[in-house]
Amino acid sequence: ALINIKKNDYAFFDQKMNQEIKQFTKMEAKLDQAIKNDEFIIYYQPYYRGVSKELYGMEALIRWQNPTKGLISPAEFIPILENSQLIKKVGLIVVKKVVKSIKNWLDAGYKVVPVSINLSARQLEDNNHLKDIYQIIGESGIDNSLIKFEITESSAMDDVNYSLKVMNKMKAKGFSISIDDFGTGYSSFSYLQKFPIDYLKIDISFIRNMTLSSDGKNIVESIINIAHLLNLKTIAEGVEKEIELNELNQLGNDFIQGYYFNPPMPAREIEKIYS
Ligand code: C2E
Ligand code: MG
Ligand code: MG
Ligand code: MG
Repeated sequence: ALINIKKNDYAFFDQKMNQEIKQFTKMEAKLDQAIKNDEFIIYYQPYYRGVSKELYGMEALIRWQNPTKGLISPAEFIPILENSQLIKKVGLIVVKKVVKSIKNWLDAGYKVVPVSINLSARQLEDNNHLKDIYQIIGESGIDNSLIKFEITESSAMDDVNYSLKVMNKMKAKGFSISIDDFGTGYSSFSYLQKFPIDYLKIDISFIRNMTLSSDGKNIVESIINIAHLLNLKTIAEGVEKEIELNELNQLGNDFIQGYYFNPPMPAREIEKIYS
């Protein structure tokens, strides 16, 4: 009987895995078609100085405008893109669209703030892809200081010596660098110190917990203190409530991003913030 159960289990998992692979392949084909149909759009989420509430920067966050399903969140398709080469195609689309928005805003005479672009591990590990990104920005004529790159803590720490090389190149070109989702990976402090980075983005999970317990608050305080000891600025992700803003200001956090100020918004809505 035991053997039978095992056999059935295998059959079950086999079938389930097969289904998942089929679904995945189908989704990949849909995403490839979405690229051809130009269905990806960029939303922008501003971030602000915590104390003065002055606009400081904004983050580019991709969405898939699906003709039948509407707006689809990156959480649903970025992991699939990351498992194929498609993430690079989409990565270049993101850069092109961001550069275009910035040029439009500059042409309109707005006091443009830098835009942060998220880079996946698959993108970082490909030097030619990074060159393509630098080239698109270079050819656009916008100043490199108007672009920041966000690299997650886990991808930065994956191959620290390689990351160091990539980051040094980025910095030499005048781009700023943020470590994204900080606190969710395993940072080597010696590398945090060696990396030519500018900002630590405190992961949203810590912000959610900071007003729930004194432990939660202490953790955020420690992250801010470490950042400042390393001469880095902190950006708190996912700030929703005034009490979070106030506590973050009290702890010396530098910048605030979150629904408290604005959700991610289409480029058109950003014009209202600028004007
Ligand atoms: P992320 O870079 O950590 O982006 C922050 C996420 O937090 C965004 O989710 C944003 O909409 C959300 N958020 C901002 N403020 C709040 C808040 O107050 N409360 C809550 N609950 N959430 C808030 P989103 O836009 O769904 O993006 C998810 C992730 O997808 C991003 O996480 C990033 O890792 C990835 N992603 C987005 N755009 C791109 C892209 O162009 N390229 C790559 N490689 N990854 C991207
Ligand atoms: Mg990010
Ligand atoms: Mg983040
Ligand atoms: Mg995050």
